[in-house]
Amino acid sequence: MRTLSPEGTDMAAERWYAGDGGPEAPIAKSAPDTCWSCGFPVRLAGPLSDTFGVCANGNANDDGKVVTVNHGCGAHSEVKLARKQQPIPVPDHVFDTLTDDEFVSL
Ligand code: SF4
Repeated sequence: MRTLSPEGTDMAAERWYAGDGGPEAPIAKSAPDTCWSCGFPVRLAGPLSDTFGVCANGNANDDGKVVTVNHGCGAHSEVKLARKQQPIPVPDHVFDTLTDDEFVSL
């Protein structure tokens, strides 16, 4: 594999920072917090690792895209769900004392 030049790396960083995954994107402006404090970004290796990562939240618009650490979105890992968005509580376990269970041994 060949290596991108420092100039090419700088140009990519400038594009990404100014793009939809950067801090000035509308979604980042209204986000409750930044990617820095989120549990979903996978940091890049190499010279851009301090500033960029890839969002790995399958429920986020930016899933699979390069984001800056000061980007953000509404799918941040610390966002509290509204009551109607929370999962339905699961009832407690019940022991069946009336019938025999059948087990299949492998
Ligand atoms: S879910 Fe949102 S805040 Fe978290 S890494 Fe992805 S874009 Fe950033």
